[in-house]
Amino acid sequence: MVNALNTRLESARTPRELFEAVEPKRAMVITAHPDDCEFMCGGTVAVLTSMGWHVDIVVATSGNKGTKDPKMTSQRLAGIREEEQREAARRLGAAEPVFLGFHDGGVPDNDELRALLVYQMRLRRPELVITWDGFRLGFNHRDHRNVGRSTYDAIYPAADDHLYLTEHKDEGLEPHRPVILLLGGQANVGDPDFHVDIQPVIRKKVRAILAHTSQIRGRTEAEMLKIQREQAEARRQAGVEAPLYRESFRRVLLRR
Ligand SMILES: [Zn+2]
Repeated sequence: MVNALNTRLESARTPRELFEAVEPKRAMVITAHPDDCEFMCGGTVAVLTSMGWHVDIVVATSGNKGTKDPKMTSQRLAGIREEEQREAARRLGAAEPVFLGFHDGGVPDNDELRALLVYQMRLRRPELVITWDGFRLGFNHRDHRNVGRSTYDAIYPAADDHLYLTEHKDEGLEPHRPVILLLGGQANVGDPDFHVDIQPVIRKKVRAILAHTSQIRGRTEAEMLKIQREQAEARRQAGVEAPLYRESFRRVLLRR
């Protein structure tokens, strides 16, 4: 039987049409580190929330490495970076982020992470999931690769099969399958086929990135907007079709 929703999604000509077609409007961004969401898909999250979507952000680590300050401890850094991620989520109009508590650089591709992701999907029931592309070639952070791969494995086959993680039933959670998966991290080495126009929300994206004060080394809003403008101009000169301000993904439609 052809599902009517799948047909509508397949015939959507633009990301915006696709985002309009999906009901209920619930998305989940699954990343490795605080700030991944804002760099990879902050503009897309801002577009979604402006269209009335509820967006959850699930972060595998609390970013407890990644500092040049010799006096900083891992525990203190984690607290700072969680707070920065909360502020970034507020700036994007997303919900309070969820932290899974793995160590920075130590995100596993194992049953523990998959079970936590299945739990979050059954609990929050996103129709759209955005994560790192864990299969793309080229240099890639191990945590990003493992989060990406674990997310696909959580979506299929685990989250939608009631015989996986049967203990979730005791909490009243039902199987769930999202309808769209967007794989990010495509900027230079991927093969993207889905380009979200983020020009209307570019300032919001930049401000959300700037919430990660410990990571941005004093860069200002004006400097970051200039970088975005230069990237757009380079695309225009290279003859790239609109949108010039973009976030790029590989799109996977998941049949129900
Ligand atoms: Zn990262």
